[in-house]
This record gives sequence, C-alpha cells and structure tokens, in this order.
Amino acid sequence: WIYPKDTAKDEKIHVSVRLRPLSKKEIADNHYSIWECPDDKTVVCLHSRPDRSNFPQSYVFDQVFRAETTTKEVYKKGARDVVLSALTGKNATIFAYGQTSSGKTYTMNGVTDSAADDIFNYIKQHNDYIFLLKFSALEIYNEVVSDLLRPEGGPLRIMDDRERGMVIEKLKEEIIKDKSHLRSLLEVCEAHRQVGETALNDMSSRSHQIIRLTIESSPRAMADEGPMKSLIAALNFVDLAGSERVSLTHSEGTTLKEGCYINRSLLTLSTVIRKLSDPNRPKTAHIPYRESKLTRILSNALGGNARTAIICTMSSSNKHLEQTRNSLFFASYAK
Ligand code: ADP
Ligand code: MG
Repeated sequence: WIYPKDTAKDEKIHVSVRLRPLSKKEIADNHYSIWECPDDKTVVCLHSRPDRSNFPQSYVFDQVFRAETTTKEVYKKGARDVVLSALTGKNATIFAYGQTSSGKTYTMNGVTDSAADDIFNYIKQHNDYIFLLKFSALEIYNEVVSDLLRPEGGPLRIMDDRERGMVIEKLKEEIIKDKSHLRSLLEVCEAHRQVGETALNDMSSRSHQIIRLTIESSPRAMADEGPMKSLIAALNFVDLAGSERVSLTHSEGTTLKEGCYINRSLLTLSTVIRKLSDPNRPKTAHIPYRESKLTRILSNALGGNARTAIICTMSSSNKHLEQTRNSLFFASYAK
C-alpha cells in the first residue's frame, strides 16, 4: 500500500488578500473604494497619497481576490492545497488576518465549510483507508486560553510533554461522526466566542479563535496492526483578533490591556512568520514561538513540514486606508 500523494505544490506560506465589498451602510455614509486589482496577484491603491509617508501604492501576493469573489473561490485558490496536504499527513494552518469588520469571520466560516466538504468527499473516495476525525476549539483572550466547547472549565494550561510535545491540558476533543455533527460543533463554538464592544464595531472580536481538526488515517488492510502506521495531522483554522491599533478604537481601561495583549500575539505571529518565510534563514535561527500563547499553540503547525496559508482580509473603503495599509504590510512580510 502507499499513502495518497501530497499533490499540493506550494511549499512556502501561501499569502492571499481578499477585498471586502463596501457595505450598504458604508455606501450610505459616502465611503468609496480606493483599491483596484489589475490582475489576480496585484492590488493597487488609487488614493492619492494622503500624507508624505512613502508607503507602496502597489502590492503583489500569491493571490488577490476582488470584492466580487465568492468565498468558495477564495477557498479554492487560497486554502484548498493546505487542506489537502493535511489529508496526507502534514500539519497545516489557515489564518484570517485583518482589521475588525474586514471579513475575517465571514471568510473563515466559509473556508471551514468548504474544507469540511473536501474532507468528507476525500474520505468517501478513499475507502481503502480508515479515517478518524477529531475536533477541538479554543480561544485566546488576554493571553488566557479557554475551551470553546467547554468554556465553563476555566483557563487551560499549555504544557510541554516529554513525549507528545506541546499539549493543552484538559482541552476537550470530540470525535466527529459526520458533517452535520461537525456543523453543530462549530455552532457551539460560535455561541461561546467572546465578543467585546468597541467604538469601531459593536461586535468586534478581540480574541483569537483556533478550530482544530485532527485527521488520522491508516490503510484498512493494516487495521489489525495497531496505530503504528497511521498518519496524523492537525489542521487549524485561525480567526485572528482584529489587527487595528488600540488608539483607533477609543478604548479605555481593560480594553487597553486587551489591545496590548492582542498586539503582542499578533506581533509575535508576524515575527515568527517573517522568520519562517526568510529563504536565507540559517537552520539554527531562533523562532520566538514561546513569546505568545498563539504562536506556542501553533508551533508544531507552523514551519518545518507544515503548510500555512494566510488570507488577509481588507476593506475597500477610503476611510480604512491606514488600517488596510497596515494589514498589507503584515501580509507582505509573509511572502
Ligand atoms: P471580522 O470578522 O473581520 O470582524 P466579519 O467577517 O464579521 O468581519 O465581517 C463584517 C461584516 O461584513 C459582516 O456583516 C459580514 O457578513 C460582511 N462581509 C464580510 N466579508 C464580506 C464579503 N466578502 N462579502 C459580503 N459581505 C461580507
Ligand atoms: Mg470576526
């Protein structure tokens, strides 16, 4: 027997950018779109320079999705390869990055759904293998980790286990029975997700959410020989906290603290990703996974053999230029 081949082509971090169309409210408030995509890899700012900073007018990524693009299309070109490689035993992570209300959750929900379709189809087509799918989900809020399936269990500790590596103590793991079961688990998580109120968006999300599917497979013919031959991969769907700066949200008190923590995690993530994607990086280069909970939890699914896709969501609006520019700057890091 042989395992299905890993058909994914892209070895490095796949970075795509998705433009969100203007909402009805934005149109009513006289926002206008200032971004154009001359081709499917380039996004250009049409705004005349609002200040004297020398930010680039044009950005190139692996893929740029225009505002009309459907989430299915975003999945196909921006995440699918990463999902398929998880089915062949490689750890994989898909991130949604961007300012609050740029479309992270909208995109990630659709991507997870399409991924589930692909995974269940794949399992159906590979009847000579036995698959075991497990689900877990957590949230990081103020550097505190909680279980999205069982938030009442309190904060979770991250441990270094000599045999298993990084483990999250007491994190609930459910065996997924079928697609509708997966859907219901996702709904439970959504209901439990922390939301905070800020001046920028009254449902803005200040937490990082990680949905993890663990995919185990072993050839049916070897089923009697124990778990030794099985492939195990973690597939993470990460809906990051809003990338906006604290000052912009007129936040006070605890909100400021939240802002700091969010920035620390996002900052560490950007450092980790920048280091991982540097082709000239020495093999021994230090990657600061341990500097935030987010990167620590994802450490075995970033770098090494793992596959990563980042979908950077951005608003088309003239009013969000500064934040969008910051997001594009982050995304450019990862290329
Ligand atoms: P975020 O998670 O980044 O804060 P959301 O995903 O909640 O942003 O999106 C903000 C709003 O915009 C939601 O009402 C969502 O339905 C809508 N939206 C986001 N992206 C799109 C899109 N590509 N097309 C249409 N509506 C979108
Ligand atoms: Mg969101």
